[in-house]
Amino acid sequence: MSDPFSIEGKVTIITGGGTGLGASMAREFAQRGAPVLIASRNATHLEPVRDEIRRAGGRCEMKVIDVREAAQCDAMVAETVAHFGRLDVLINNHGASIASPSLDLSPNGWKAVVDINLSGTFFASRAAARQFIAQKRGGKSGGSIINISSLAGVLGSATMTPYGASKAGVINLTISHASEWGEHGIRVNCIAPGPIDTEGAAARTWPNPKVRAAVVRSRALGRFGQPGEVAWPCIFLASEASSYITGAVLMVDGGTAYRYRSE
Ligand code: NAP
Repeated sequence: MSDPFSIEGKVTIITGGGTGLGASMAREFAQRGAPVLIASRNATHLEPVRDEIRRAGGRCEMKVIDVREAAQCDAMVAETVAHFGRLDVLINNHGASIASPSLDLSPNGWKAVVDINLSGTFFASRAAARQFIAQKRGGKSGGSIINISSLAGVLGSATMTPYGASKAGVINLTISHASEWGEHGIRVNCIAPGPIDTEGAAARTWPNPKVRAAVVRSRALGRFGQPGEVAWPCIFLASEASSYITGAVLMVDGGTAYRYRSE
């Protein structure tokens, strides 16, 4: 009997795959036999992850792109198909934020964050969906898109408003694309992570021990999440084990602590 949780052979693109959560996803997918292509703006982020995966016996390619450019998202999908022959999974993991009071935020600051988080997710999703439809087999195309939103996309954020708003947009886009592309057998789901201990998030969001302690107190599980704890739900959403799930938002946030904890 085939294992519905297997992702072996599922060709997967991971945007932002050279750092933090994306690098963990790339390792976890490749380790389970999924050929992966990691993509982002900086080759210096991508190369070490690609080389590490290859040394471990996995299949990994990389592509330097800026998700804000639709043509570059198309090229990312085309190159994946040129390398691996098809595409099965897209993980829109790229993301950016600026911590600034709204009153001081420049128009460029607003636009950069919204363009990367929301427009980038749209362009990459459209490129992947076109490929899923083009490679149709037996009447249905299939294909899984996993969008990485954020707890801030659900709750809002007082310090990173364009981040919260664009991540909310990613949730809405998930529901719209699930609805629009369901007839092709394409599933579109979203993961909204809470605080996950990555270098990028630490520098931006919990820069000192006091904030870190407050973050820990806010979680029901009383701790930060680890990158693998986001990668594993992605494996589930990429696999046949989630074949009747689309348009869903999965909170991966350690739960909210609706109580006071002593320091
Ligand atoms: P990270 O290491 O800063 O990851 C962000 C990634 O996005 C980087 O690899 C970056 O690569 C890529 N990226 C940024 N702008 C891009 C662009 N224009 N085009 C292509 N790639 C771009 O942070 P992380 O913690 O791993 O976060 C990963 C995702 O999870 C993000 O979407 C983030 O919003 C979300 N998230 C994280 C947390 C958390 O606590 N860690 C919580 C909620 C949501 P380059 O610099 O090479 O382009």
